Amino acid sequence: MSESRIDRAFPILTAPQIERLSAYGRRRATRRDEILVGVGDKVVPLYVVESGALQVRRHSGGLETVIVTHGPGQFSGEGNLLTGRPALVQVRVSEPGAVIEIARERLLAMIQTDAELSRVLMRAFILRRVQLISGGYGNDVVIGSNHSAGTLRVKEFLTRNGHPFHYLDLDVDRDAQELLDRFHVSVEDVPVFICRGEAVLRNPTNGEIADCLDFNETIDQTHVGDLVIVGAGPAGLAAAVYGASEGLDVLVLEASSPGGQAGSSSRIENYLGFPTGVSGLDLTARAYAQAQKFGAHIMIAKGATRLSCDGRIYSVEIDGGSRVRGRTVLVATGAEYRRPPLGNLARFEAPASTMRRRRWNPSFASVKTSSSSAAEIRPVRPRCSSAKRPNACTC
Ligand SMILES: Cc1cc2nc3c(=O)[nH]c(=O)nc-3n(C[C@H](O)[C@H](O)[C@H](O)COP(=O)(O)OP(=O)(O)OC[C@H]3O[C@@H](n4cnc5c(N)ncnc54)[C@H](O)[C@@H]3O)c2cc1C
Repeated sequence: MSESRIDRAFPILTAPQIERLSAYGRRRATRRDEILVGVGDKVVPLYVVESGALQVRRHSGGLETVIVTHGPGQFSGEGNLLTGRPALVQVRVSEPGAVIEIARERLLAMIQTDAELSRVLMRAFILRRVQLISGGYGNDVVIGSNHSAGTLRVKEFLTRNGHPFHYLDLDVDRDAQELLDRFHVSVEDVPVFICRGEAVLRNPTNGEIADCLDFNETIDQTHVGDLVIVGAGPAGLAAAVYGASEGLDVLVLEASSPGGQAGSSSRIENYLGFPTGVSGLDLTARAYAQAQKFGAHIMIAKGATRLSCDGRIYSVEIDGGSRVRGRTVLVATGAEYRRPPLGNLARFEAPASTMRRRRWNPSFASVKTSSSSAAEIRPVRPRCSSAKRPNACTC
């Protein structure tokens, strides 16, 4: 990391910036060795150091490592403050003093109203998450083989969701094989995902991984939103950004991971605003962060299976049988490729295409686009269910 990048990841806020932030939280004293954030904590506030110091620590295999120390004017937190996912690292008081504690909801409100602080904090959170990913921080481990489509799928799922993990390759790491033998894990069970250093998941689906990592924990499924978007490819994420930035209450359902097809593109040269090109992963990771910055909620590894339109509020059934409801539903499920009828095709496919995608049937709906970024869905065939008129759904 160059020095300027470190400065951007760990900036020192100015006195007026701290003053503005303090309006969103409360001042409190800290004690030496007090743990402000524990690994796995689901409620994680932002802490701005006024005096004293905070250490960010990693816990792995019984060892503790200090990742960084925040002094006066600096602040804790990384990408999970945007996503609401559990903490990957511990924040401990190393020098007693005082902090401003800001709850996540208040932080998100501030990010949407204070452009200058939003830029400083968002950039720091994203750079810190990148650092956690490149350092393999956290307690999640994938054990598998690069010759296994399942392993590539799991690695791609975690990467696309910006989740750090260690990878042990059975083809090169003898210890990994011994580890599996000890757990009586057979070849059919590969890949194995060790979740938070505790649960051992054998050849898990993306949904099982998302559940274990609490990816969707903070989303209230009983809430009726303004807009439910099905699919988090470039189209769905763009709609989420525009909808949420205009103040709509947006929920996105994504069957796999955010980014869609574009997420697997190594370089996109023809996207507006990127004259030198951008990798698909970079582009869609930015869009994902941007949508969350404006308050959109994104459910991961939850495919929509059915749309019901019995009343003014639409209801979308998702994997597992639960439902979410919204005043508008926008289907942005992309394209489905025809496959050649070859028996052993799966063996040769890239992980993106071997993902167990549950596509919405394209004949299900016609999508009427308007001059704005939003689109209105008009189901043209009675595939959506209506208890009153089972064959004449008029959403
Ligand atoms: C390798 C590759 C490289 C490419 N390079 C370029 C390029 O350089 N330039 C360019 O212009 N285009 C490129 N494309 C095409 C571009 O990526 C697509 O046009 C674009 O991604 C389409 O966006 P979308 O949001 O409409 O659909 P998609 O990207 O297909 O996204 C749809 C999303 O919906 C989700 N989904 C599907 N069904 C459901 C369901 N039932 N419930 C919930 N979620 C669901 C999917 O998992 C997916 O994430 C490339 C495509 C690929 C595969």
